[in-house]
Amino acid sequence: MPDSQNDHIFMKLALDEAQRAYRESEVPVGAVLVHNGKVIAKAHNQMERKGDATAHAELLVIREGARHFNDWRLLGTTLYTTLEPCAMCAGAILLSRVERLVWGAPDLRHGANGSFIDLFKEDHPTHTVQITQGVLAEEASELMKAFFRQRRLVSK
Ligand SMILES: [Zn+2]
Repeated sequence: MPDSQNDHIFMKLALDEAQRAYRESEVPVGAVLVHNGKVIAKAHNQMERKGDATAHAELLVIREGARHFNDWRLLGTTLYTTLEPCAMCAGAILLSRVERLVWGAPDLRHGANGSFIDLFKEDHPTHTVQITQGVLAEEASELMKAFFRQRRLVSK
């Protein structure tokens, strides 16, 4: 199967996670980590539930992936996330040696792959990540918009 078809399938799973976050009143971001065509970790944003600013979906799948391999090196993995990663998650993606990153909607305020800053821009001697942007971007961004619309209504 071509990469792009796989990308849609796995991003759909990340979107399912984002939907889960939405239902739990968390900012709706989801992520899955894939190795050899299999999902080895999936998570959604849990900042509110955990009371933890670092409980982003991407960091959670990186931690779960490390447990899966019993190794912090996530060699040969692809990380799918519904939103452009922030600086914290971009740093973790680089350090954990994720091979490929696929993200959905841009994050104009925090995105660290070009929207706010670009941590992946410079060639690094050991950390290089292949990147595909904008997969199912519309779905991811609609979910974010619906979430913030809802939150504004509730806070009025
Ligand atoms: Zn993040």
